[in-house]
Amino acid sequence: MTIVEALIELQDVDGRIRELELELKDLPRRRALETARLSGVSADLKAAQAGLEQVEDRIKGYEDDAKALREKAQKLKTAQASLKTNKEYQQYSIQIDLVEHDISAAESNQLAAMDDKPAAQKRIDDAQARYDSVKGGIDAICSEIDERIAAVKQELAEAQSERTAKAAQVSDPKFMLYYERLRTKRWPVVVQLTHDGVCDGCHLVQPPSVGQLADANAKNGEAGKDQSVVACTMCGRILYRL
Ligand SMILES: [Zn+2]
Repeated sequence: MTIVEALIELQDVDGRIRELELELKDLPRRRALETARLSGVSADLKAAQAGLEQVEDRIKGYEDDAKALREKAQKLKTAQASLKTNKEYQQYSIQIDLVEHDISAAESNQLAAMDDKPAAQKRIDDAQARYDSVKGGIDAICSEIDERIAAVKQELAEAQSERTAKAAQVSDPKFMLYYERLRTKRWPVVVQLTHDGVCDGCHLVQPPSVGQLADANAKNGEAGKDQSVVACTMCGRILYRL
C-alpha cells in the first residue's frame, strides 16, 4: 500500500468519525426540540384547568352569598317575631323581602355558573387528550433518539479504534503531520487532482508543475518508492493522481 492510499483509508475513517460526531451533537438538540413541543399543549391544559377552577370559584362564591343571605333573613325573621309595633313589623317585612330577592338572585347565578361547568370540564378533557397524544408521540421519538445516541457512541468508539489502526499504516510522519494539521481546517484533506489539473477540493486550476509532481508521485507509489506531499497551491490540500 502506498502512503497516499494509506492516507485515503485513514481519511475514510475520519470522514465517518466526523459524521458520527456531528450526529452526536445534533441528536440532543433534536431531543430538546421534541420536548419543547410539549410546552404548548401543556400550557393549554393548564389554562383549561384554571378555567374550571374559575367556574368552581364562581359557584362557591354565589353559594356562600346565598348562605349568608339566608342566615340574614333568618335573623330578621327572628327579630321580627318579637317586635311590638305594626310599623316596625312592616319595615322588617320590606327588609326580609329584599334579602329574599337577593337570595333568589344568588341562587339563580349559582345555577347559571353550574351550567358552565360541563363545558369547562370538556375543555380539560380535550386538552388532556391532546397532551397525552402529543406526549406519547414525543416519548416515542425521544426513546428512538436515545437509542440512536447509544448506537452512535458505540459506532464512534469502533471507528476510533479503527482510526488508530489506519493511522499506524501511514508510515511517513511527515504525511501524518501534514494531514493532521490540515484536518480541522480543510475537509477532505486528500483530494484528487483531476485530469484537467484542477484541485478537487477548491477547484482551482493548478500549475503544470503540480500535475507533473502528482504523476511522478503516482509512479513512485506503483514502483514502491517514497512519495512526497503534493499540495494544492491554493488550499494546501494533498493532491494525488491515480
Ligand atoms: Zn485546492
